[in-house]
Amino acid sequence: MLRVGVHTSISGGVDKSVDRAYHLGCTAFQIFTRNPRGWKMAPLREEEKALYRSKVERYGFNGFNVAHMPYLPNLSSPKDDIYEKSLNTFINELIRCEELGIPYLVIHLGSHMGSGFDRGKKRLVDAIYKAVEEVDNNVRILLENMAGQKNNMGSRFEDLKTLYNELSGLEDRIGFCFDTAHAFSAGYDLKIKSGVKTTVEEFDSLVGWDNVFVIHLNDSKHEVGSGRDHHEHIGMGYIGEKGFKYLLEYPFIKDKPLILETPVDERRGDVGNIAMVWLLAGEDPPSNLIERWLKTASEDGIDIKIIKSFL
Ligand SMILES: [Zn+2]
Ligand SMILES: [Zn+2]
Repeated sequence: MLRVGVHTSISGGVDKSVDRAYHLGCTAFQIFTRNPRGWKMAPLREEEKALYRSKVERYGFNGFNVAHMPYLPNLSSPKDDIYEKSLNTFINELIRCEELGIPYLVIHLGSHMGSGFDRGKKRLVDAIYKAVEEVDNNVRILLENMAGQKNNMGSRFEDLKTLYNELSGLEDRIGFCFDTAHAFSAGYDLKIKSGVKTTVEEFDSLVGWDNVFVIHLNDSKHEVGSGRDHHEHIGMGYIGEKGFKYLLEYPFIKDKPLILETPVDERRGDVGNIAMVWLLAGEDPPSNLIERWLKTASEDGIDIKIIKSFL
């Protein structure tokens, strides 16, 4: 069965994210374990942890639940104060994932802020070694490819390979999260068949799809190589329906947890994007999932069109 879902809110308690994922007809989902826009974090309450875990179990999300690091940390920063705070956040997130039974923590590779890739790399690699030494658990750290914004680390596959080589000995603790919109913005043309093929093969020879544990499936609001990071509904952006169709023909992509970080607006909601992925992957969703989509879509007053193609 396809594992596809969205990023859900933890508003009202971490466990509420699981209810939201179930309600939307997800078969995988992602959360921030706390408010992603600040440095502050309150410890997770025992009751909240237990509820999250039991709901993940009950709804069959075990192994397909993902956490994403907050936005502020920069593990490649040349500034000591920011770097220390970032490392501290990273360590805490690893602990929180373990407490919640979340198998994957997606991290951004940060910005070297003009100090250059090599100095950024040293900071980032040091941070990862320190964090895994500090926290010895089963949470796998997933390095996410970036969109190629100025000074950002790890948008080219060669750079991801370099980082992976620097982290030797940590093969059991790290892996990658592949973001389609980021790769596209970084110059990998995923909208045409030949571009998808070249990208998939190039990534495989440099990084290896076996090292990818989560896919961020997002369309892009900007053209290939824009270096800009704005996500779009699946098929409505520059990658387009065809691009995703070609990508999802590869079993080693389709069969990984596919997490959507797409907008919610008057054009389409989460259910519409989830159903669109099933459609483009050519997979038949189980009937209980279709029922849930229909119920949620009718409550929200949207999205029926895509779901109808399964009826
Ligand atoms: Zn991300
Ligand atoms: Zn992005």
